[in-house]
Amino acid sequence: MTSDRRPRSVVEASAPLEHYLISVPPVGVDVCKVCRGAVYDGYDLCYPCNQARSVLRNLRLDSTAFVSLAPVGDQMARDLYTYKRSNVPQYLRQSRTVGLSATLWRWLAVHEKCVASAAGVDSFELITTVPSTSGRTDEHPLDTLVGKIVVGSGGRVVDVLELARTDLGQRTQAKDRFSASREVCGHNVLVIDDTWTTGAKMQSASAALKQAGARKVGGVAIGRWFTQSHKDNANWLKAKRRDAWSWEECCFDRDVRGNVALDLSWPTG
Ligand SMILES: [Zn+2]
Ligand SMILES: [Zn+2]
Repeated sequence: MTSDRRPRSVVEASAPLEHYLISVPPVGVDVCKVCRGAVYDGYDLCYPCNQARSVLRNLRLDSTAFVSLAPVGDQMARDLYTYKRSNVPQYLRQSRTVGLSATLWRWLAVHEKCVASAAGVDSFELITTVPSTSGRTDEHPLDTLVGKIVVGSGGRVVDVLELARTDLGQRTQAKDRFSASREVCGHNVLVIDDTWTTGAKMQSASAALKQAGARKVGGVAIGRWFTQSHKDNANWLKAKRRDAWSWEECCFDRDVRGNVALDLSWPTG
């Protein structure tokens, strides 16, 4: 990208995405309080999040947030898929990376404190990314996106997680899927991934960080994978699209916003 085509600001670089960013529902009735997916019959956790609770217990993420829904087939899902595909032309990958970085940066500027507050802390001293489980050896584009472009993350970005097991299915929550360096010991850590499907990667990353001594761990996924074919999702999405995107809209309930310290840790047991 030549310098004359480089966006002048985070606001400018994130603006094109405003046309297709869709906020996830805040925690509430029929919404899973971890992944903001739909739940039925009065449960407060969906199946994968409930599984994470029984397998990982207190090693799970202390709070979870999502920049946008990524409905299958939508532009957001395409952005999240193509920014990291090596067979996509470089100029396209680069422009997607810039757009996603700016979007994450702008969103964190408003909501990082909400994620911290929901985890019961004032702030995160360290930020890290979830390693690729595909076994790629070159630098993962997510590291470029978070570590090199999202300047708002400052000097807090650390590379502390490593893939420890390659034999696990994509949806398996496991304490030993990743390992983390002791650098995180005693710190509150924000872990970032590009996409949340079942949460298995981010929850397992949280488990590794906590086993290495991290105190509270918050998680932010840029896109929350959303299947339109599931139950009444398509109709819900149609109604949801009528709302204009707002950078201020929060995926936590009102008590968490504005950094009010409330104990909203997930139930244990
Ligand atoms: Zn869930
Ligand atoms: Zn917020």
